[in-house]
Amino acid sequence: MNAVRGVNDGDGGRDAMELRLESAWHLLGLKKQVKGCDVRRTKIVATIGPASDSNEVIEQLVAAGVDVLRLSFAHGDLPSCIERLRRIRAVAPLVAIMVDIPGPKVRSGSFGSSPVPLILNSEIELHEGFGETSTSTSIAVERDGILSGLSVGDKIHIGDGGVSLEVTALGSSVGAVVISGGSVMGKPGLSLPSSLMQDQLPTPDDRERIEALRSEEFEILAVSFVRNAVDVQSVRSVLNRPDVMIMSKIETAEGVENLTEIVECSDAIMVARGDLGVRLPIEDVPHLQKEIVRQGIRFARPVVVATQMLESMTHSQVPTRAEVTDVANAVLDGASAVMLSGETAIGHDPVAVVRTMDRIIVRTELGFDYKKWGASLGVQEVAGSRSQAMRTTAAITGAAWRAAMEENATVIVACTRSGMTARAISRFRPPMPILAITPSEKTARQLRSSWGVNDVLISEQTEMGELTALAIEHLKKIGLVKVGDAVVVMAGSENSEASTTDTVRMAFVR
Ligand code: PEP
Repeated sequence: MNAVRGVNDGDGGRDAMELRLESAWHLLGLKKQVKGCDVRRTKIVATIGPASDSNEVIEQLVAAGVDVLRLSFAHGDLPSCIERLRRIRAVAPLVAIMVDIPGPKVRSGSFGSSPVPLILNSEIELHEGFGETSTSTSIAVERDGILSGLSVGDKIHIGDGGVSLEVTALGSSVGAVVISGGSVMGKPGLSLPSSLMQDQLPTPDDRERIEALRSEEFEILAVSFVRNAVDVQSVRSVLNRPDVMIMSKIETAEGVENLTEIVECSDAIMVARGDLGVRLPIEDVPHLQKEIVRQGIRFARPVVVATQMLESMTHSQVPTRAEVTDVANAVLDGASAVMLSGETAIGHDPVAVVRTMDRIIVRTELGFDYKKWGASLGVQEVAGSRSQAMRTTAAITGAAWRAAMEENATVIVACTRSGMTARAISRFRPPMPILAITPSEKTARQLRSSWGVNDVLISEQTEMGELTALAIEHLKKIGLVKVGDAVVVMAGSENSEASTTDTVRMAFVR
């Protein structure tokens, strides 16, 4: 296998060591960079689907700036998803791969690649069936036994809630009437009453998927419909892969209610606005987004804001002004990453959407008040955490941020094995680049989901003590620092059981 490259070969001598300190993205020049660091700091997640799963489009998406590729089970069965995962890994070795398991989410049979109108007041029948086509009068529901739980008067929301049906008749197939019309395409999710979606996680289908994924190379497992910490722990223990981050999708009332415990025991969080806006009043979504982002930052977890960000670009070349403003506001709220779903999975020009999102983010970040953000971040909140590792990390990264701001440091360097040190300083949103130096390819790729972090892979044998000098040599070589510049360097403890950031020092370039 090889993924991030450029640093792990050689005989261990000093020159070879310096040479190894090249980051993969710098060597390959995959992204727009200034002096070896990405210009854009908020990351982009793109969902792969029929419109984007050719090798050629995946390469173009990465070249346009995608940091994380998301595979959902919406488009294809388990073997085809595994095949797609392996192919993407080979085509895009430097980005993170997120696999999204649907939990109790039910999908319809495909409506095809062109919009199908579901007209207000028209009648529709729903039946259970796999791999069938859906039309404007008949919808195949891909879950055995689910329709028998419906009652007359129940509402079914299609996709992210724009189109809704009301159940009118029960039988071997179910009758319904369209109460909110609109167009659908692809294989949208069907939101059924919450009483039918109370499955314990992982569901039997998800368990089968997780078992098949256990031996595959991917970085993040996104878990749908997480309700509490027990759900997260159950998925984690079934997966049994400490090297894979668990991203909890917040999309139910229970998930919101138990937000703090979910964030604390997850590695990352997604604001899954589609289902969130179906399960809770839609006018609550902007406020929930801000609160979920705030909690993620509090615990140094990457937070992805997802769904309908540039939805109109599924069909059109130019986004609406409201969508541009939505992406910008997510950045200003402090999202670590913003996500594209249907826009890149089934849209007409996935690469153009990524380029548009990149432009909006870069422009927004010009107006981001970095100083105010870092200063207003309560170290105290985390300092009150039950975890000693968390409290130490909060104190040290707070000190590192203050030192970097007061000395106007040129770069912050995080030496990290698990990625925790880089994630912990990232939450301060410092104006200077963050360089994460790590011996782990997996960590380097996982850090693609963290705000402002540039990963640099080093040899596994490198002594942590040598890292400051090596990092500064690297920064000099790429022209990011000059003699006299201050560089703040942090390191995680190698001995403690939990990942802890416990060392900070200020180095001056000589
Ligand atoms: C969502 O509901 O917003 C979401 C991201 O989940 P999915 O795309 O799996 O429906």
